[in-house]
Amino acid sequence: MKSSLVIGNWKSNGSLSGNRVLLDAVASGVPAGVRCAVCVPYPYLAQVGEILEDSAIAFGSQDVSEYGYGAYTGEVNAEMLAEFGCRFVIVGHSERRSLFDESDETVARKAGAVLDANMVPVVCVGETLAQRDAGEVHSVLQQQLDALDTVRGASRLAGLVVAYEPVWAIGTGRTPTPEQVQDALGFVRAWFAARIDDADAVDVLYGGSVKAGNAAELFALPDSDGGLIGGASLVADEFVAICAAAV
Ligand code: PEP
Repeated sequence: MKSSLVIGNWKSNGSLSGNRVLLDAVASGVPAGVRCAVCVPYPYLAQVGEILEDSAIAFGSQDVSEYGYGAYTGEVNAEMLAEFGCRFVIVGHSERRSLFDESDETVARKAGAVLDANMVPVVCVGETLAQRDAGEVHSVLQQQLDALDTVRGASRLAGLVVAYEPVWAIGTGRTPTPEQVQDALGFVRAWFAARIDDADAVDVLYGGSVKAGNAAELFALPDSDGGLIGGASLVADEFVAICAAAV
């Protein structure tokens, strides 16, 4: 059986001094038997790569340009991230979709750029509360996932990680019931099963107010392969405990 994957999303947080303290504690505390990574702001990639050099913890970024090298002022492309040693790149986080107007198609192009650079896109999908209340969870997920068909090719789809993150659960302290989470994770799994041979090999994560106290129950769900952790990934003890719950 594959080990669980737990990825921290620092969002726009961190400092040169604080990162070192946090990562030293995480690197020494995360148990063997869980795949762990942290996705950090761009300016910290070099520092984080150096701190984690001799650890089993991977790292990555929280976004990427859909473009390559060239006249794209302010953009950071996938080749650059790969050069810094990134393994994972979060794409389509709901904060980017809502605050920066990223469309499903943009997210798919970013995922393709990450794959082209031999890294792993962590594609975030999930519904708003209004969409859930309107009974649209499956149709929202279907639309967000279908855009990934433009990534093209079963071997490329097999290289994706998908994080189901209901927008209303992110940073709010609210989590869906385990049944609601399993329903969504199972839907994502079925989407892959319709397209690739080994859908079980794809990592399907849950994200949204995961804490040490609820992690074990969420990670134990049949279609859960781990979690994407926001706020709690900034607190060493909490993040380590979440990782321990995934073993
Ligand atoms: C996230 O930012 O991806 C996230 C899941 O945040 P939080 O854990 O704080 O809800």
